[in-house]
Amino acid sequence: MHEMSIAQSLLNIILQEGATHQIRRVVSVALKVGELSSVVPESLRFCFELIAQGTIVEGAELQIERVPVTCRCEDCGTQFSVEHLLFVCPSCHSRRVEVLSGRELNIQSLEAE
Ligand SMILES: [Zn+2]
Repeated sequence: MHEMSIAQSLLNIILQEGATHQIRRVVSVALKVGELSSVVPESLRFCFELIAQGTIVEGAELQIERVPVTCRCEDCGTQFSVEHLLFVCPSCHSRRVEVLSGRELNIQSLEAE
């Protein structure tokens, strides 16, 4: 399962942070998940809670913020948000676009005690 390996690597990062800062318990974890990362938030949440059991992250609240896909047109410079994965500039209809956001999959912040 795609989400399981993601949950595992996120947990590893958090446990490493926890060891570095001598955290006893993680209260909440804020994640940024881009629309292009093809992660199903509910599925990620399920996997994460499963593997967090028995660690300092057990019972932590997982906050998932979805990051919309935004692009910049390489021809006219227009920035626009992408809906329905339609990568076409709305101003000049160019298909030469650069993805600015939407691929994120990272830990935004950790709340711990
Ligand atoms: Zn354009």
